[in-house]
Amino acid sequence: MGAIKNARHPFYDHCHQALDQIKHQGRYRTFTPLARQAERFPLYEEAVRDLPQGREVIVWSTNDYLGMGVVPEVQDAAIAAIREHGAGAGGTRNIAGTSPLHTQLEAELASLHGKEAGLLFISGYVSNQASLQTILTSMPGWICFSDRLNHASMIAGIKGARGSQTVIYEHNDLKDLEEKLAAAPKDAPKLIAFESVYSMDGDISDIAGTCALARKYNALTYLDEVHAVGLYGQEGGGVSQRDGVADQVDIIEGTLAKGFGVHGGYITASAEIVDFLRSTASGFIFTTALPPPVVAGALASVRKVRAENWRRESIFERVNTFRHRLRAAGVPFTMTPSHIVPIPIGDAERCKRICRRLLTEYGHYATPINYPTVPQGTERLRLTPGPFHTDEMMDDLINALGVLLREEGIMPARQAACSA
Ligand code: PMP
Repeated sequence: MGAIKNARHPFYDHCHQALDQIKHQGRYRTFTPLARQAERFPLYEEAVRDLPQGREVIVWSTNDYLGMGVVPEVQDAAIAAIREHGAGAGGTRNIAGTSPLHTQLEAELASLHGKEAGLLFISGYVSNQASLQTILTSMPGWICFSDRLNHASMIAGIKGARGSQTVIYEHNDLKDLEEKLAAAPKDAPKLIAFESVYSMDGDISDIAGTCALARKYNALTYLDEVHAVGLYGQEGGGVSQRDGVADQVDIIEGTLAKGFGVHGGYITASAEIVDFLRSTASGFIFTTALPPPVVAGALASVRKVRAENWRRESIFERVNTFRHRLRAAGVPFTMTPSHIVPIPIGDAERCKRICRRLLTEYGHYATPINYPTVPQGTERLRLTPGPFHTDEMMDDLINALGVLLREEGIMPARQAACSA
């Protein structure tokens, strides 16, 4: 009897070919292992082979915008919770996974956004995906009006809502949105899904204008404030709070992983919407609840960020100082109305090369933002200076950028000094 020879499954070949193509297109992902130094943030240690200790690196691409993840009170709350309640939640929210910490954090978030109720998810991604998919399959005939630049997590929820229709409107273009709303059947249930701060371009949507259209055409509004919570508004309730329009938005979604520096996602809305999603959203129901230390850390962070406006003032002071210094040094950047500072490069290979050299030669870490995250030809560095970046760190980075951008022909070469 001959040995049974298994045929190679075609998926293995598929992976091989797809990876070849991804590499050929410059889309292959590599990660730089960087260990955050809580005591010395934004300094990280880059693991380097042959070195007993890591190399010190200044990180400019963190989404822990306010550095809340390294604030001692936030860490202490997480440590206390792990000692008191254990490392994990031990179950889904339904199966013994709901602690008083979870309900307190949900109430805190509802109050932050001036809503009746809040609901935690295991990440911001899941909150968008699960909420949108559940809402858009709840009744027949839903039409979702989605901003062209919405995040992948919203798109996943919208696309996953079988039976609903999607209408994509041009980015932040209320004229286009209105034309599309007006063309839709009057009685169809409608939802407008959009963001406040768009993280790659750093632009901000017109929430009041979008809500006015929603009222006119009787659409529900779903707003992703992931890049705004903690940073904008009197208490860090996002751009909707800053603009005084949070009450006009039906569902505000956020993350605990960026401005609040910990982990987890959430929505806040009316009691009946939250109650409905709590009982129907698969991505909420069938997964283990957030661990107690994460919830306790997030709760401490949200309370602190709400109470301490100086943290918000400090990030915008740092961002303004950074822009001022970039301008003085002639380093090109895109001016945005937010805390995000894009440095346009316009080519994927150059973008990667500049980031690699910034890291290896100068000890600064910035992520290259390439296609498909942004359209081809608009590749960039995306910098997010925060309260922990000092003037000296900024000058050091700007000097390095000056050298590299000149060498890449993105900045004009320095004029030789004139002799009299
Ligand atoms: N929405 C937007 C706009 C985002 O950029 C992200 C993550 N980068 C998310 C949602 C997902 O949030 P989280 O990282 O908490 O999953």
